[in-house]
Amino acid sequence: MASSIVPVSPLHRPSSFNFARDVVDHWAHKDPSQNALYWADQSLSSTKQLTYAHFARQSHRIATLLASLGIKQGETCIVILPRVPEWWELATACLRSGVVLCPCTTLLVAKDIEYRLQISHAAAFVGDEASVAKCLSVASKCPQLRTVIQVQASNNNVSPSSRDQRVTDFHTALASIPEDVKCPVPSTLTSTSPALTFFTSGTTGPPKMVLHSQISYPLAHALTGIHWLQLSPSKTYWNLSEQGWAKAAWSWFSSWNCGATLFVHEDRLPFSPRRTLKVLHDFPITTLCAPPTVYRQLVLDENREFFATEQGRPRALTHCCGAGEPLNESVIRVWKEMTNGIEIYDAYGQTETIVVCANQATNPVKPGSMGKPIPDVPLTIVDSGGNVTKDGKEGDIAIEVAGKDKQESSFFGIFEGYIDKATGKIDSKVKTFQNGKRYYITGDRASRDKDGYFWFVGRNDDVINSAGYRIGPFEVESTLKQHPSVIESAVVASPDDQRDEVVKAFVVLTDSASARMNDDSSRDKLVRELQEFCKEHAAPYKYPRKIEFVDAKFLPKTISGKIRRGELKALERKRYQDGKGA
Ligand code: ATP
Ligand code: MG
Repeated sequence: MASSIVPVSPLHRPSSFNFARDVVDHWAHKDPSQNALYWADQSLSSTKQLTYAHFARQSHRIATLLASLGIKQGETCIVILPRVPEWWELATACLRSGVVLCPCTTLLVAKDIEYRLQISHAAAFVGDEASVAKCLSVASKCPQLRTVIQVQASNNNVSPSSRDQRVTDFHTALASIPEDVKCPVPSTLTSTSPALTFFTSGTTGPPKMVLHSQISYPLAHALTGIHWLQLSPSKTYWNLSEQGWAKAAWSWFSSWNCGATLFVHEDRLPFSPRRTLKVLHDFPITTLCAPPTVYRQLVLDENREFFATEQGRPRALTHCCGAGEPLNESVIRVWKEMTNGIEIYDAYGQTETIVVCANQATNPVKPGSMGKPIPDVPLTIVDSGGNVTKDGKEGDIAIEVAGKDKQESSFFGIFEGYIDKATGKIDSKVKTFQNGKRYYITGDRASRDKDGYFWFVGRNDDVINSAGYRIGPFEVESTLKQHPSVIESAVVASPDDQRDEVVKAFVVLTDSASARMNDDSSRDKLVRELQEFCKEHAAPYKYPRKIEFVDAKFLPKTISGKIRRGELKALERKRYQDGKGA
């Protein structure tokens, strides 16, 4: 039962909840030696094991510091730091004091930071040397920004004198705050008070600012930890996402609600499959969450061979998870073979929600499916009239939202709304249908099979309408991925006079297949082979009528590595119009 594992039940909406007080302090008190964070530096030579008691103490001190710097409850603080323990100390302190935490990725450039400072009206910015420099270069265009704090990474020897006068040095300022100081949670903080803002990945347009309350992420993610990640105090959990992405908050809140240890590798280098396998070998990580792109690389032949060696074998891994993008069946199959039976539990969620659908221990994994709704999450699939679809019929993935009178018992693992840049108003995106039902429509399409498993079709805008058929890009991409010459593909709609749209696949080939493509006839031959392959392995009407071989760099991706299919679709439309004009 969920409520017996975690300090506060995620099944009932509490009138007051504070993650620092009710979760971090709880575990600190229960077992002062329990580790909350197991941190390793870039080279893996230096490590720190930090307890819940450490984060309880540090967050009281930092909350006191934030107050002394004039940062108030309800004001926003953007934090851009690499994976250093100070991030979790600061983040816990923000939650303790009701300061709205806005984590962003270190990959942002100055203009991205300006966009986020302006939309969020942030009063404070915390960063390392690099992100503070970017922030200062745009600060004059963000008049609401009052405080900039720099966290000096321990391995960085920049002398304090080289710092800008407008900047407070974190460690120097913190040194004057007593070790045993207490900073009480403000009495005006309720469970619906704002806690966090996140920017979405920007896959379909400019990133949207998502507002979460004190419970919508910090407490509701207990469900994520229990049902999907299967965490408990004996588990050590590693998630590869950087803290700027909502998925890192999924990990933080789910692991700490469950009293588990969060493993963090301060990796500042581009992803390397070998390094990932080394970390799994060197450290007692029991639970891994990685995006599908990472698993796709880990199962490549050269990594499989390394995996089979003594140094390549994970030390303690028992549970693997993936989310964020569709996970291809073939990857799950190969990973299971490599690991002697470890499944990858695919799950679905958004920056706007907790994990709402997942492969879970209670049901066998169906490779290629994103599993079943998390217990107590009112997740369903509806048609355009807000009616629940029949099994096998595609519709909108939706979360039912109770009417105001039912607020007390309703599911709360969902955002408060998007913050509108111009007006500052919050748009909850909840739609009331004629049948009286109220749903948050996720913008994603799926179908449900007779066993209740959800099958992702695609984002609403990505579904292809060809001669009356609706075709989801994911199934076509997954089919192509099974072909030995294909590393990756992006499938989009291409305008067509007869069929309205046809399926077009941009395909990235393996090095050896690319080397064989030296003339038109070899290219045409492989196009036909891939088309036949798709007709054999999926419903024939879904095969890509157009195939273009491209370099991996050609595929437009978000900073977090998701394919921006909308851009490829626009490219196809432009080519079509140019062709008509010619
Ligand atoms: P934006 O909203 O800015 O366009 P985004 O939707 O990619 O970007 P995120 O909130 O990071 O931003 O991603 C959530 C989306 O990722 C989901 O709406 C869905 O389209 C996709 N997604 C998440 N998990 C899965 C999954 N298991 N299978 C398929 N798609 C998934
Ligand atoms: Mg989205």
